[in-house]
Amino acid sequence: MTLLKVTGLNKRFGGVVAAKDVAFALEAGDMLAIIGPNGAGKSTTFNMVGGQLRPDSGQVLLAGQPISGLAPREVWRRGIGRTFQIAQTFVSMSVAENVQMALISWHDQIMSVGARAETRYRPEALDLLDLVGMRADADRPVRELAYGDVKRVELAIALASAPKLLLMDEPTAGMAPKERAQLMDITATIARQRKIGVLFTEHDMDAVFAHADRILVLVRGEIIADGKPDEVRSNARVKQVYLGDMGVAAAMRARRGRV
Ligand code: ADP
Ligand code: MG
Repeated sequence: MTLLKVTGLNKRFGGVVAAKDVAFALEAGDMLAIIGPNGAGKSTTFNMVGGQLRPDSGQVLLAGQPISGLAPREVWRRGIGRTFQIAQTFVSMSVAENVQMALISWHDQIMSVGARAETRYRPEALDLLDLVGMRADADRPVRELAYGDVKRVELAIALASAPKLLLMDEPTAGMAPKERAQLMDITATIARQRKIGVLFTEHDMDAVFAHADRILVLVRGEIIADGKPDEVRSNARVKQVYLGDMGVAAAMRARRGRV
């Protein structure tokens, strides 16, 4: 069964149409990228899937079950995870403890006074850190880590709830190109191994075209193209409306250069 099916999603903010009849599907184990200029409605779409925003109309189905209108925590409980930045209060804790906290939260264990967080779910946390290549840093405080490594810990935290679908809204923002490629590689490998669907946005077109199984192009709230990377790359409307006549990657590099 299709993991995520979105039909006829609409969202307006006053006079702004942030999403217009947005519809797409995502299969388990696939990486689906949403690209589009700033203000295209990417985050709005993510937030309607994740429960942060209620659509004006339309449906979101997770494995056939309607989830639109549910609160974010309920959406998360049903199997949609997302990467969040590690809160400032947790940076003094170790890498492993951060992941253990996520596991405790997922397994709904209320910590009693004096409970020793450092022993709970430790093996499970280490397994997740292994998966993202951070096992060797398990006992270092997060605050000591390089930015790209923090991002990998955040991915391990998101995986603690064993999501069926992972939402990643600009996961590599602020990262160096090499770290960025690494994070996307790890994410793609884990998605395939664990049959997790990944919905992501990303400014770096090289990363998008290298890792996405399918790409949606959103312009002013509307999907103007939906297909395999090669199809999207050669789509006339995408070139015209979004990229001009430049190559995709070159156009995005030029855009970044101007910002
Ligand atoms: P993207 O993530 O593609 O850059 P967004 O989904 O954030 O785009 O925004 C789509 C449009 O909706 C933009 O015009 C933005 O200004 C508007 N918008 C997004 N969120 C809100 C909000 N909470 N209130 C009012 N307007 C919003
Ligand atoms: Mg956004």
